[in-house]
Amino acid sequence: MLLPKPYPDEAVGSVLLRAQQVYGISLKAMLAWIYEMPASRTNHSFHLSTDVDRIATLCGMAPRDFLYEHTVFPYVTACLPGKYKESLEAKLLASRHCRPYPIASMVGNIGVGASTRRYCVRCASDDLVRYGETYWHRVHQLPTVLICPVHKTPLVLTGIPSGLTCGKTSLTLPSPAYVRPVKPPLTMVIALTLARLSQDLLSGRYDHGIDWHDLYRTRARKLGFVHHYGDTASGVSALALSEVYGAKYLRLLDCTVRAPWGSSWPALLLRSSRNQFVSVVRHLLMHAFLDHALVDERLKSLMDKVAKPLRTDFQALDKAAKEAIQREIKRHKSAGTRTTVGHLLHVADVTQPYRHNRSRFPATEAVLTEFRGSDQSERQLGGRAYWRARTPSRWGLSSKREATASETSPL
Ligand SMILES: [Zn+2]
Repeated sequence: MLLPKPYPDEAVGSVLLRAQQVYGISLKAMLAWIYEMPASRTNHSFHLSTDVDRIATLCGMAPRDFLYEHTVFPYVTACLPGKYKESLEAKLLASRHCRPYPIASMVGNIGVGASTRRYCVRCASDDLVRYGETYWHRVHQLPTVLICPVHKTPLVLTGIPSGLTCGKTSLTLPSPAYVRPVKPPLTMVIALTLARLSQDLLSGRYDHGIDWHDLYRTRARKLGFVHHYGDTASGVSALALSEVYGAKYLRLLDCTVRAPWGSSWPALLLRSSRNQFVSVVRHLLMHAFLDHALVDERLKSLMDKVAKPLRTDFQALDKAAKEAIQREIKRHKSAGTRTTVGHLLHVADVTQPYRHNRSRFPATEAVLTEFRGSDQSERQLGGRAYWRARTPSRWGLSSKREATASETSPL
């Protein structure tokens, strides 16, 4: 038994569905046959297979080609660091020979934004003429695609759950019976940009070395999202993004943006370079926003209203904290008592600034490192006071019992 040869851009779930119709067997029986294990132990989705190697072979395709042409893998991994994407690819392609790779984290976002199957009426009509049947296109099932990138017409929402289910409707292929045109909650220009960008990501040809945060920041600044004192107006950009997409669409994609704007996800995407694991949907929303954003007078006045933030003089703060901590350690030394790092930071009044900006406190850090290894530290390296007293020999301390034993030893 073989699986049907996939049509161009056909979703993996659609291939299985056509196979079910050809062989007249249940989804459960087919998954058990494909994976050679009980269906309950298989790990499969409409958008991605955990055993690409097996399915591709049954379809007569090279596994990697199948992964890139019939699953959402290139889309969901498009903005990930190259090395991480390669390791995911290797795990998926090798899962037949080792433990099945859990795919829920990769396809979770797709299900949130596109909970039901969608299709383009004109694509379906072309497919019917060309192949004699219709099928579910991969690109139409993406959460950021509301109109067909080829025909520029709104997609039809079918109401059929996008997962692989055993219900009767799940077996259905696109047909006029399901025509329920839905007006996209976005302007056609933005919807088309999102659809085209999403299609580009499916091609799998993109640069994984790009610093997205840097790119977005540069583009936002070029558009005029800059405060009068020179900083990027990330909060105002976030507000403008939320107005372009509207609360309803952002909620649908699980990408809600709300005040305080400066700490919402679009603002962080413009500012931080540390988080490299932002979902592809958020990247696409930012990308399409920057393609069309305009800084009008209202946004300009909002940017002008923001006062220049007070800059903390970390150098002076570090010096003062170091001196206060040294004084406190000296006091404990002469009193023969011990204390903790937490107490020292509290005395120096830098607990919060130190916790959030540790790299800005090099002098304080050096004093604390030295303190941790000293007798004045309550928490000795390698053990708490309680355990040092209970098991002194473990920490290189001689106990009374050990001392007595060595004194009475004949040697
Ligand atoms: Zn179409």
